[in-house]
Amino acid sequence: MQLVFATNNLNKIKEVQTLIPKHIKLLSLKDIGCFEEVPETQNTIKGNAIQKVEYIKNNYGYDCFADDTGLEVEALNGEPGVFSARYAGEQRDANNNINKLLTELSTKDNKNAQFKTVIALHLNDQIKTFPGICEGEITDKKHGKNGFGYDPIFKPKGYDKTFAEMDLNLKNSIGHRGKAITKLVKFLNS
Ligand code: IMP
Repeated sequence: MQLVFATNNLNKIKEVQTLIPKHIKLLSLKDIGCFEEVPETQNTIKGNAIQKVEYIKNNYGYDCFADDTGLEVEALNGEPGVFSARYAGEQRDANNNINKLLTELSTKDNKNAQFKTVIALHLNDQIKTFPGICEGEITDKKHGKNGFGYDPIFKPKGYDKTFAEMDLNLKNSIGHRGKAITKLVKFLNS
């Protein structure tokens, strides 16, 4: 079975590849000749995930799945949420996003936050979605070099280190995307 993972994010591909069974061959957007930016202009995480798979199916004809992820911070009423990628501006710079978030949170005592992922699957003319949540808290400064995005400032509940201080297998086993992918794989195997 071949399935397109509709992302250009190499970190996401690396994470997902270790969780997908060997009999499913993952194709990238490059593999199907898609080099443009896939639109994500909806105002919910789920809406964006669905928009991405519909775009690929409609324009390239492939069954595919896509994820959209947001970091929801309790003291900021769920922000940056669906705007996580562009939190500090259109250049989508991870460092700037982190610095903005740390500044916003510097005066708050409540550091609770959660990563929310929704994976959308477009298969046989049907769309299904699979959510995954990881609760935790935002640290006062960056820790660790692994991962990507907000990983250096997110410490999952029950752990004493950030995602950026963990190896990929541990992040996958407790993380938002890992949980959503596990549901996707279960569905594909059923
Ligand atoms: P998107 O799902 O690629 O649109 O990601 C939205 C924002 O969340 C971007 O700034 C990503 O870097 C960030 N992000 C997505 N997944 C993760 C993750 O697993 N860890 C840390 N940041 C993430």
